Amino acid sequence: MSTAPGPGRGAGRFAPSPSGDLHIGNLRTAVLAWLFARATGRTFGLRMEDLDRVRDGAADRQLADLRALGVDWDGEVIWQSHRRDEYRAVVDRLVDAGATFECFCTRREILEAPSAPHAPPGAYPGTCRELSDAEREERRATRPAAIRLRSHVASFTVHDARHGEVTGDVDDFVLMRGDGTPAYNLAVVVDDAAAGIDQVVRGDDLLSSAPRQAYLATLLGHRPPEYVHVPMVLNADGVRLAKRDGAVTLADLADHGVDERAALTWIAESLGLAGSDRSPTLETMLHRFEPAALPRDPWVFIPPRQRDPA
Ligand code: GLU
Repeated sequence: MSTAPGPGRGAGRFAPSPSGDLHIGNLRTAVLAWLFARATGRTFGLRMEDLDRVRDGAADRQLADLRALGVDWDGEVIWQSHRRDEYRAVVDRLVDAGATFECFCTRREILEAPSAPHAPPGAYPGTCRELSDAEREERRATRPAAIRLRSHVASFTVHDARHGEVTGDVDDFVLMRGDGTPAYNLAVVVDDAAAGIDQVVRGDDLLSSAPRQAYLATLLGHRPPEYVHVPMVLNADGVRLAKRDGAVTLADLADHGVDERAALTWIAESLGLAGSDRSPTLETMLHRFEPAALPRDPWVFIPPRQRDPA
């Protein structure tokens, strides 16, 4: 794998949602995204996916925690909340091209609707796809429409560096919610394309979203990125690590006497990149980084025991 740096060689990114502090699993994914980008001479961008579920102060704490581990990024942080006009313009373009339809279904109506024959479970049942003008007019009076993509495929195939060719379902997914909030799948595609992102490293909980996003990218005339979906970090019960598992954020770990260097060492060990260093830096991890040698199994993280109250 080439490590030659240089402009025009593509870009990777980390794109957290500031709904709370990053836990050690999120931080490990950020480290991996940084390693993959830097090891291939790509630039590395940071994007805050702050269109909804934002918790006060979380974005700043996330950025501080990333810096504390040595994760740096090129250029300014991109804030999705500043890019609403861009998302709207892309949706307008798709609407004008007849590639969308207005949807008035509530979540409940979608769950209760009989699904179309051969449709994958959970797929949009198509209720609003062929409404007549009169029906649409009538429904517009009841609630604001979400905009869905009028998808012409049932599935799409992406390439993932760890999972190979992955074919996944593509339904008429939402582009713009009824309240005018751009949907995650739309914003990711628009932003990755605008920033020249050609390598997406993220948790494998998002693997099933990749075919939808790659399909949309293709419709918009962009080449889908190379994907690298990395295993999630699990708790002792084998369930995806979450804040409720206890000391999992850098702030919590610091309260238990684990500083950021020690946390980075754990991450390095989990990736087989610690070597014999007591305290490897991100730079030393980069020198040892060999994507093909990364562990394939999820990392089980046992948080330090909560101290007994004094
Ligand atoms: N914001 C998403 C998350 O925190 C990640 C989006 C992405 O990497 O495409 O789960």
